[in-house]
Amino acid sequence: MADKKQGVVGAFLDGAAGLAGSYAATMTHLFRKPVTEQYPEYKRPLPARTRGRIVLTRSPDGKERCVACYLCSGACPVNCISMQSEVGPDGRRQAAWFRINFARCIYCGLCEEACPTLALQLTPEFAFCKDDIADFVYEKEQLLVEHGGKHPDYDFYAHAGVAAGGPKGSHIGEDDPVDVKSILP
Ligand code: SF4
Ligand code: SF4
Repeated sequence: MADKKQGVVGAFLDGAAGLAGSYAATMTHLFRKPVTEQYPEYKRPLPARTRGRIVLTRSPDGKERCVACYLCSGACPVNCISMQSEVGPDGRRQAAWFRINFARCIYCGLCEEACPTLALQLTPEFAFCKDDIADFVYEKEQLLVEHGGKHPDYDFYAHAGVAAGGPKGSHIGEDDPVDVKSILP
């Protein structure tokens, strides 16, 4: 009988202790500063390397950087990039059309890693909702921006584009050719 009484008292004390702990936790939070962020009025600063909407950037001379090499579409794990290459009036290779389906994109950034001309870049923009899923298919005209993005001074063609036709050693940052006979033992 005594054991039964002790069991009931113990259970009551356990319950009371649990209840007191819960009330104590509530009271400590009651006087804390609220942490609710009123989006979209307040937009939390995002990390610099946040991966969001993709853009196609331009060289400092305003020309399109993309040379339609297909490397980005080859690297894309969900096959959401497609394009058709052509040669422009100035002899530069470019994309006749370029298409990204953002409804399939997983914003992994592999296409940006693969791009040799730094044309394709992911931006921190993430809020571009649509009512119609077909509107997530962006064409080249929607992807092209008027600046160089993260690399404003980089000019792919000055290094490896049309200038590649000149003699060896005449390109930016290229050393003069080595006379191999001069280094023979
Ligand atoms: S971010 Fe990833 S999924 Fe999206 S287009 Fe680039 S490679 Fe494809
Ligand atoms: S990898 Fe870059 S240059 Fe090549 S097709 Fe894609 S965006 Fe254009």
